[in-house]
Amino acid sequence: TPYAAPDPQAGAAVKATDRAHVFHSWSAQELIDPLAVAGAEGSYFWDYEGNRYLDFASGLVFTNIGYQHPKVVAAIQEQAGKLATFAPAFALEARSEAARLIAERTPGDLDKIFFTNGGAEAVENAIRMARVHTGRPKVLSAYRSYHGATTTAINLTGDPRRWASDSGAAGVVRFWAPFLYRSPFYSSTEQEECARALDHLESVIAHEGPGTIAAVILETVPGTAGIMVPPPGYLAGVRELCDRHGIVFVADEVMAGFGRTGRWFATEHFDVVPDLLTFAKGVNSGYVPLGGVAISGAIADTFARRPYPGGLTYSGHPLACAAAVATIELMAEEGIVEQAAHLGDAVLGPGLRELAARHPSVGEVRGLGAFWAVELVRDRETREPLVPYNATGEANAPMAAFAAACRKNGLWPFVNMNRTHAVPPLTTSEAEAKEGLAALDAALAVADEHTV
Ligand code: PLP
Repeated sequence: TPYAAPDPQAGAAVKATDRAHVFHSWSAQELIDPLAVAGAEGSYFWDYEGNRYLDFASGLVFTNIGYQHPKVVAAIQEQAGKLATFAPAFALEARSEAARLIAERTPGDLDKIFFTNGGAEAVENAIRMARVHTGRPKVLSAYRSYHGATTTAINLTGDPRRWASDSGAAGVVRFWAPFLYRSPFYSSTEQEECARALDHLESVIAHEGPGTIAAVILETVPGTAGIMVPPPGYLAGVRELCDRHGIVFVADEVMAGFGRTGRWFATEHFDVVPDLLTFAKGVNSGYVPLGGVAISGAIADTFARRPYPGGLTYSGHPLACAAAVATIELMAEEGIVEQAAHLGDAVLGPGLRELAARHPSVGEVRGLGAFWAVELVRDRETREPLVPYNATGEANAPMAAFAAACRKNGLWPFVNMNRTHAVPPLTTSEAEAKEGLAALDAALAVADEHTV
């Protein structure tokens, strides 16, 4: 196997060149020290030193089918041999078939697909569609959200660490979405949190002027900001508010879509149909960059009458679409969405709750499917997060120690602020998931040392 042949010298050369010439995402902020990766397969990747890691982050929560799936690799190779690239405004087999397979799975009448190269572009275009469709300027988005790193998307993102110092995007208004564990509304039950969050949104809409609001954008289940499953009734309430005021409801499923939550799309858990749905990541597990917007009949009608002022050179790239066709087909054939639901119900959910019962550093465990967050705290009573309270961007020593302990035990964790997310490939076996839980168990013992 490839990971049986460590080659530290080759790894050092790759890393030195990377250091010299690659400007990484969020570099200054996160003080990136990139690992040199030699290869990957299934749920694992490995470095040049001979260390193998179980990837509990799915890269950046996108390798839903794991690494190097032979069917998708073959489909990309076959498409490259036939027609490696082509311009956007032509009908191509791989593109039309990918759109058909996606439209078959998106909720309700979201049957037209606008392709992009990733999630942020999908969000940009969804917002522009909503603005042209309604003729209104404003967009409401939630604090504690992530929508991408282009100008509009990053300003829609509800995380001040992500905002550039020099600008805000015109027309972006933020509101609070429900999150009982750290409730912005001082609620004590899910029902109370839901009702208060809907009252709050209704009030924001009224005070902004309903006739000025093009869209409300929400991650169906907010991911990067903490995997906060909304209370029953919340998204239906948002749908009703949008309907009442002629506002476009955009569900951002870039992270939650394509099986991550145990359904093809997370909207299915809540029985809502948005007007626009953004996707990327899981659509082809990131084997070739692809994202898009699924568009309702009413909005598609608007653009049947007047042109949509947007498009991208690589929209619906044949290699990306061929990868999407192969990914969706194999997910359907192999029951991978059901496998994600089972992984959550039978292994990750019970396993993480069991860890929470034993480790004082775990404040809360929440999630569904292959989409779980573990909230680490210094103090379970006060819920004080396991992060130092300063605004200087100082390295978070307790979380860094926790992450290092995970890696030492062969687990690659997703870590953000005071949370670790258990977000492995949906194809992760029960035995692999249990191996990951055992590594988390050992690392949480390190985090426990930092509790009061
Ligand atoms: N929207 C959501 C919900 C996301 O989670 C992400 C990325 O994590 C994005 C948008 C941005 O996607 P991309 O990084 O592909 O531009």
